[in-house]
Amino acid sequence: MKISHIEHIGIAVESLETAIPFYEKALGLKCYAVEEVAEQKVKTAFFKVGETKIELLESTDPEGPIGKFIEKKGPGMHHLAFAVDQVDASLEDAEANGVRLIDKKHRNGAEGLKIGFLHPKSTFGVLTELCGHE
Ligand code: ZN
Repeated sequence: MKISHIEHIGIAVESLETAIPFYEKALGLKCYAVEEVAEQKVKTAFFKVGETKIELLESTDPEGPIGKFIEKKGPGMHHLAFAVDQVDASLEDAEANGVRLIDKKHRNGAEGLKIGFLHPKSTFGVLTELCGHE
């Protein structure tokens, strides 16, 4: 696996409508995209911070992963995403190194990226995403 940088940090919020103004007004960042990812049952909003992005995640379904996360833990940091050159091969590498996977194969994330998650039980409590274009 070859990680180039932190692609984004995912933050679960109850409402994009109330969270976006905080990032824009209080932090002075610019929301450059809002996108619904039906497969993940979320609506996302993106901000660039250098090479890294902040991805706000609002649930569109209480039974979806973000809906359940907020119900259990409340809003807050949800996952850390590393950019890799090849997502499926990197997931295989991780598994070969004894890491428990949530996704054995990539799924489709926001911004046309392929994404796959490592299980937080194997990553010291941090839900870890690998993402990339291949
Ligand atoms: Zn993500």
